[in-house]
Amino acid sequence: MRPEDYAREILIDLGITSFPINPSVVTKEFDIEVAETDADSYDGFLLRSNSGTKIFINKNIPSIGRKNFTLAHEIGHYCIPAHRGNYKCITRYLNPFTNNPQVEIEANKFASELLLPENLLKPILHSYKPDFESINELSEDCGTSLTATAIKFASLSDDCCVLIASSDNKIKWFQKSPSFPYEYRIDVGKSISYGTLTASYSLDGAIKEPDTQQVHATYWFTGRGINNTTTLIESCVPMVYYGVVLTILWFPEPPFDINGSSDDNDEYRYEESSWRWRDPEE
Ligand SMILES: [Zn+2]
Repeated sequence: MRPEDYAREILIDLGITSFPINPSVVTKEFDIEVAETDADSYDGFLLRSNSGTKIFINKNIPSIGRKNFTLAHEIGHYCIPAHRGNYKCITRYLNPFTNNPQVEIEANKFASELLLPENLLKPILHSYKPDFESINELSEDCGTSLTATAIKFASLSDDCCVLIASSDNKIKWFQKSPSFPYEYRIDVGKSISYGTLTASYSLDGAIKEPDTQQVHATYWFTGRGINNTTTLIESCVPMVYYGVVLTILWFPEPPFDINGSSDDNDEYRYEESSWRWRDPEE
């Protein structure tokens, strides 16, 4: 079973069918004692002993959403059968934008599904737009961190969007929505173009509020239907905790000619109803 499957099993067993999902309900069910500590060497710590299992959460974690995610991550170490022993999890292990040990990636996947299960989230996503004002509302409705919510949003949304994390003015990581054209290449390691909102966030180092603007699509990528007049919506938020700027790029309208009159290589055709490229052989 995948880490997500263990999380889903627990939600079914406990009859949890609505947001927000409180991970404390799960620790109570499993008789796990939870305490907040003034730790400087970890965010979360799963300790198994003869007298029972305890989870310690660093009380200095700055938001409830992040604390919930950390607790859900430690529950993941407890519930995934291959995770044995104790786990002392530093901030970096909970950072989805860095390379981490496999067990930490698995605990993060478990936590994401426990707090933001796909079957509950997908039906409500259409009420939220792909910008950080709206995703922030979603995170408050779900009691989850903005980062975890944005990642899940991008991976499940029917909108044509992509979530990008950058640091030092370079692209570090991205997650395309299912309908985002795969041919629009986003290169990890590439410098952020001058003129984007993301670059203005990265360059002057000042902490700013989330913001949204229209931007030339060619600043970010090229591809079918994209020319110098194509624009998309760019929304940004600085994530100081992880040292990254999060960016969402969103095409509210199709970026290419649906009738295909301008570029008639018929390798792909566009299906208006589903926002997906389909191979004509399919
Ligand atoms: Zn961990």
